[in-house]
Amino acid sequence: MINVKGYAAQNAKALLEPFKFERREPGAHDVVIDILFCGVCHSDLHMVRDEWGGTIYPIVPGHEIVGKVSRVGSEVKRFKAGDLAGVGVLVDSCRTCSSCKQGLEQYCEVHWVPTYSGYEMDRKTVTYGGYSNQIVTDENYVLSISPQLKLEGVAPLLCAGITTYSPLRHWKAGTGMKIGVVGLGGLGHMAVKFASSFGAEVTMLSTSNSKKADARRLGAAHFINTGDESAVKKSKNQFDLIINTISAPHDINTYVSLLRLNGTMVMVGIPPEDPILNVGSLIGKRKSIAGSMIGGIRETQEMLDYCAANNIVSDVELIAMKKINTAYERMIKGDVKYRFVIDMATL
Ligand code: NAP
Ligand code: ZN
Ligand code: ZN
Repeated sequence: MINVKGYAAQNAKALLEPFKFERREPGAHDVVIDILFCGVCHSDLHMVRDEWGGTIYPIVPGHEIVGKVSRVGSEVKRFKAGDLAGVGVLVDSCRTCSSCKQGLEQYCEVHWVPTYSGYEMDRKTVTYGGYSNQIVTDENYVLSISPQLKLEGVAPLLCAGITTYSPLRHWKAGTGMKIGVVGLGGLGHMAVKFASSFGAEVTMLSTSNSKKADARRLGAAHFINTGDESAVKKSKNQFDLIINTISAPHDINTYVSLLRLNGTMVMVGIPPEDPILNVGSLIGKRKSIAGSMIGGIRETQEMLDYCAANNIVSDVELIAMKKINTAYERMIKGDVKYRFVIDMATL
């Protein structure tokens, strides 16, 4: 076994603290990655505090991982020692169901393995994530990382990036479309970057007026402070597509009212409490509400390659590992521009 250092929470009320654990020796198809940077996703916080139920303790969070390959198994074809590599939210799946065959492993019909606080395909071995110095992952679930981009800015692409890229591609974001992005955090800032890069006219909908200038800089043509009732009212029936990234309970009907005929709001944020929907507001203009979860491995690689070709990275604040609990408190207050990334050299 490989001895690994990380940070874990022992229960829903505990802080993250240093934790030692073991990972498997690399099998024939495994890649060992020395982790350089790991992004801090709001899902890490939801999971550490068991806000969705079902967290397995101790939990080592982290699913926005970039690092350098240190060893590979005998059958590994795509990676060698010294290569840059990334690991996102999923590290295995059944590989044979119709979703897996389409490259949609995140919608696997049998079982998919989350990078942390889940079970491997044996349904017994618990997974530990990227707030640690090394990870061992099957090469089929490892992403290639371009050396052209700043590595700390690449880490958040592995979750925040693909989670917004995938629905924007699925709903065909592009020129001539009016797109609203709700919530300017980790996911929200990537949604603005991608949607504007695809040619759409983007409006940022935020509770934080102080983020207005940043929204413009990231690519939004318009900004609506959602606390300003008259501004919200003026924007009714406007948007073809809304990407909702809000992490906390909120009234979704306000945002549904902003969709135009046949418009769709895609929920990517997962608040701990389910919203109450006013069905009439959908029926009146044949509107849809949809959901979307990360993206498959193939599409994640496509997104990373798109970012390398178009010079897109996440805007990050680099933190030392021991600052993680403070970072969580700041994330709850919306005080992050726009993703915390842990410098693993500080572990
Ligand atoms: P984040 O960085 O904390 O951003 C969330 C943003 O939502 C905040 O910056 C804030 O933006 C807004 N917000 C927070 N509380 C709000 C409230 N009460 N009312 C209105 N707006 C509020 O979080 P994140 O990492 O982007 O993650 C966002 C959500 O997506 C989380 O629930 C996370 O678990 C989920 N997620 C889902 C997937 C998926 O596959 N679907 C993947 C990753 C994450 P403003 O200051 O601009 O208002
Ligand atoms: Zn995430
Ligand atoms: Zn499957």
